[in-house]
Amino acid sequence: MVKAEGVHKSYGPAHILRGIDLEVRSGEVFCLVGPSGSGKSTFLRCINHLERIDGGRLSVDGELVGYRQKGDKLYELKDSEVAAQRRDIGMVFQRFNLFPHMTALANVMEAPVQVKGESKAVARERAERLLDRVGLGDKMGNYPSQLSGGQQQRVAIARALAMEPKLMLFDEPTSALDPELVGDVLDVMRDLAESGMTMIVVTHEMGFAREVGDSLVFMDGGVVVESGHPREVLGNPQHDRTKAFLSKVL
Ligand code: ATP
Ligand code: MG
Repeated sequence: MVKAEGVHKSYGPAHILRGIDLEVRSGEVFCLVGPSGSGKSTFLRCINHLERIDGGRLSVDGELVGYRQKGDKLYELKDSEVAAQRRDIGMVFQRFNLFPHMTALANVMEAPVQVKGESKAVARERAERLLDRVGLGDKMGNYPSQLSGGQQQRVAIARALAMEPKLMLFDEPTSALDPELVGDVLDVMRDLAESGMTMIVVTHEMGFAREVGDSLVFMDGGVVVESGHPREVLGNPQHDRTKAFLSKVL
């Protein structure tokens, strides 16, 4: 579903991604872990072309992200084409970024109506179903300020799912939450994983990675240091850098 081959990204002189190679298979939960500043968020942002890569190849579902290849040359896609690619990729951030002036229901209905031109009736029906699914059937009329952080994050997940993405990216979705609210969000993610969604999850929740993850990559300094099944990498890390990191978070 996602294939990265030698992906590089710099910000000015700062060379952040230094040749990322990885492959995410369809239907798998792919966990990305690593120290602060190792480039995890940058890599996620490259997947939906919020950042442009400087080298290598990155594709989603067989299509190059942000580019079209003709012969040996790469041509950047038009904004409308980039938008079309992005529509298939849901993203959930550490901060929920809900529209504060809209109810939970309206937040979830917004993109299908505005971006896809869907009818309000159809969008509403799906939004209600999704909010039910994330355990917020009784909070649809609440504004974000009337929801806990965990509830807001579940609305954010429902909102991403409303676009019926083929891939979901999660960037530390629980790290801004009070500890007692983390479980409900992880439960929603676990349920989503069981439904077969392809998910890339940047997380420090090693319990989640071990139980739900199919693959785990440890990144440091903009490269993949070590990868494998989460139980293998977490239980029997091979590299000193992985060991040092895990000894801090486990
Ligand atoms: P964390 O665990 O703290 O979220 P991360 O692994 O997600 O870290 P990134 O956010 O990808 O790390 O950042 C990697 C590096 O790139 C950092 O050194 C950061 O300062 C730098 N960086 C990120 N975004 C930009 C930007 N827009 N301009 C310049 N430098 C940036
Ligand atoms: Mg980050």
